[in-house]
Amino acid sequence: MTAEPLAEVKFDCEVLNIQAHEDCVRLSLPGNQTVDVPWVVAADGAGSAIRRSLDVETDGPGDMGHFLNVMFRAN
Ligand SMILES: Cc1cc2nc3c(=O)[nH]c(=O)nc-3n(C[C@H](O)[C@H](O)[C@H](O)COP(=O)(O)OP(=O)(O)OC[C@H]3O[C@@H](n4cnc5c(N)ncnc54)[C@H](O)[C@@H]3O)c2cc1C
Repeated sequence: MTAEPLAEVKFDCEVLNIQAHEDCVRLSLPGNQTVDVPWVVAADGAGSAIRRSLDVETDGPGDMGHFLNVMFRAN
């Protein structure tokens, strides 16, 4: 965990669940940890689990393609 005056940054940390409460938003993290925060910005990508958990729909054409990256070593 890294701290700086404006934010606490947790690297390599997956949000497993998110619950809205009267006075905070509670995030469930691995290892039975919870963090209470005043608000959340759902920046978890196009397939956002947070967006879906809040029943927020997307706008526009939606899925525009499927990609597969293959990394290999060869002569
Ligand atoms: C193959 C490919 C090529 C692309 N090429 C281009 C291009 O040339 N030009 C262009 O403008 N755009 C391109 N895009 C689109 C661009 O990548 C996305 O529009 C952009 O990355 C979206 O940014 P974002 O921050 O919203 O989400 P993302 O970049 O997807 O970041 C979301 C982050 O949230 C993290 N996350 C997700 N769930 C959780 C969770 N539960 N807990 C904690 N963290 C979580 C993910 O690990 C990820 O780091 C491309 C996309 C793909 C797939």
